[in-house]
Amino acid sequence: MRVYSSHKELLKSIKHKLSVGLVPTMGSLHEGHLSLIEKAYSENDEVIVSIYVNPTQFNDKEDLKKYPRNIKEDLKKLNRFENVIVYTPENNDLYQKNESSKQYDFGSFTNLMEGKHRPGHFDGVATIIEKLFKIFNPDNAYFGEKDFQQLLLIKTLTEQLDINTNVVGCDTIREPDGLAMSSRNKLMSDKERKSAKEIIKLLLWAKEVYSKFDFVQIRDEIKNRSKLIDSFKLEYFEIMNLEEFSSISKKNNEIRAFIACRIGNIRLIDNIKL
Ligand code: AMP
Repeated sequence: MRVYSSHKELLKSIKHKLSVGLVPTMGSLHEGHLSLIEKAYSENDEVIVSIYVNPTQFNDKEDLKKYPRNIKEDLKKLNRFENVIVYTPENNDLYQKNESSKQYDFGSFTNLMEGKHRPGHFDGVATIIEKLFKIFNPDNAYFGEKDFQQLLLIKTLTEQLDINTNVVGCDTIREPDGLAMSSRNKLMSDKERKSAKEIIKLLLWAKEVYSKFDFVQIRDEIKNRSKLIDSFKLEYFEIMNLEEFSSISKKNNEIRAFIACRIGNIRLIDNIKL
């Protein structure tokens, strides 16, 4: 493993002829992240994993403060990948002093779901990903379908800016009870964790009845069911073909059910293909 906090030093260590896969993360690594790294290894000679809690994508300063960070544990988990290159920058390796997000125009796509509920979030995500892609110029970059809207945003970004990186979507990895793995899961109490396993049940119920009921009926029942779950506050539930709202050229025409909720103070999102 090679660990760098300076991108300039990291770049010096990469041989130019090799193909490079990039896995951007905010750390507190779990099996979901590790599955992205495994996929990157199967398709590239070199794999760079970035671990950086990007401040510009947090619209809520408290959320940024309490976001879990555990670099020592992360490096232990990365030990299974012998040759992995880890990038662990400080803010000043990526941002000028007081630099804020770049403003992008991704059309109506960013007025939906995460874009609507977390103002400025996607500008922050696009800002950091544009920086990482321009610095490392990876052949491939890996993102989880758990953050499906983010994955589409990054595909849109690379097309708009003519960036030559292939953006690869990866399956959502789940706990045995179906909860999508997330760094935020470890912030929950046992009681909250119990409520969290209901998220996938709501999505699977929507999948089951999708062909029988219309959207409003399904959403109303999801609202009713979510009121019965302890400490659970539904933020949004949607069923849609999200790609229709984006300008990406290669569309899969998938319909998905999306959910965002708060369990206590912890905000969780998930989605499944219907
Ligand atoms: P994060 O550290 O939360 O920013 O996530 C880094 C990358 O890992 C993003 O592309 C996420 O979509 C992806 N990811 C997070 N959780 C999962 C999961 N449970 N399964 C697959 N990918 C995931």
